[in-house]
Amino acid sequence: MSTTMNVMEHLASEIGVRVGGTNAAHEAANYLQDTFSELGYDAELQSFKFEGYEVTRDWELDVLSHDIELDVAPVLYSESTPEGGVEGTLREAGTAYLVEDLFELPRYEIVDDDGEHLAYLLGNVDGAAFPIPSTEPQFVDTYGLISSDGMEWVDERLEAGDEVRVAFECGGKRVPNYVDHNVIATIEGTDKPDEEVVIGAHYDSAYEATGAADNASGVEALVNVAEYYAEHPPDRTVTFVAYGSEEWWLVGSRYYVNERKANGTLDDIVAKVNIDMAGGGELLNVWAGDGDIKTIAGDAVQQVLDDDEDRHYQGVISGSDHWPYYQEGIPVAMLIFWPYDQYHQPSDDLDQVSTKDIEDTTAIVKAIVDNLDRSPEFAGVEH
Ligand SMILES: [Zn+2]
Repeated sequence: MSTTMNVMEHLASEIGVRVGGTNAAHEAANYLQDTFSELGYDAELQSFKFEGYEVTRDWELDVLSHDIELDVAPVLYSESTPEGGVEGTLREAGTAYLVEDLFELPRYEIVDDDGEHLAYLLGNVDGAAFPIPSTEPQFVDTYGLISSDGMEWVDERLEAGDEVRVAFECGGKRVPNYVDHNVIATIEGTDKPDEEVVIGAHYDSAYEATGAADNASGVEALVNVAEYYAEHPPDRTVTFVAYGSEEWWLVGSRYYVNERKANGTLDDIVAKVNIDMAGGGELLNVWAGDGDIKTIAGDAVQQVLDDDEDRHYQGVISGSDHWPYYQEGIPVAMLIFWPYDQYHQPSDDLDQVSTKDIEDTTAIVKAIVDNLDRSPEFAGVEH
């Protein structure tokens, strides 16, 4: 359907892993700037700095009481254990939320013989141990992430009343002044140029992940929409943003929203549509709110998907680049194919993503933007 159908392939296959702040991410940003330029846009790189993290030691977890080793992955921004690690017993310690209602991780605590805290382990609820960003101050501690198999094993032992004695070692450091970029392209509206819709998708990948579904697929859909509007100018101004460093926790989108706030143009944005995984996962999830955008997004999905295709609607939760907008009171619609087995894995590659899902996502995004005026809220009847 599109001449740009190679964007996903270029990001996921030619460039591959593109963690925010690395040379690969910079290459991806330059590539996307060129891609928007080829479509006739005056595309801009917006650079920002943030505090990154480097893994400096292997992360290891030995279960001394049962003489086995469990896979453990880094939790980014974790404090390090002392050289040689810590040794203690495991106990359950509630739940940690990466994203409430979406990504909740059972937590275990390693304590010494006096019951004093040494470190935490998180259990990945579904799949292998993979490095995850620690997003909130709740994670300022020493952390590792174990796989769902490892967690099951631990749960069984703890339920049986076994003492599970472990040695855990990890090491990493915070690195100031990582530099990364958002790629921004705008087309002025023909009818309401002062009102703006922002459509966005992050182009970076998670640590060690190929990032085909997450989120080269979303960028593919984003570029497809941009290609369409280059030839069919929209009523409202549309700004396309390919965000950097989402996987470090929404760094690029938060920077973008703060800049718009600082220069007094945030209020021009009447709606924000976000794409994070235009395929890969089991079914299309739509997180939309507040107000009429829920209905508009629902109608757009009905317009595009067949009745027998599953979809799921819910209110807005955190987890991607729509969130900083939503926090500023801007109506948002977020599209994500979820759940996804290969989430943040090296195996999140091209053959996981169907062309049809990307085409559907492209069509849904266009329908949301084109149909905004079906509601009085956006038609501006009160003006
Ligand atoms: Zn993503």
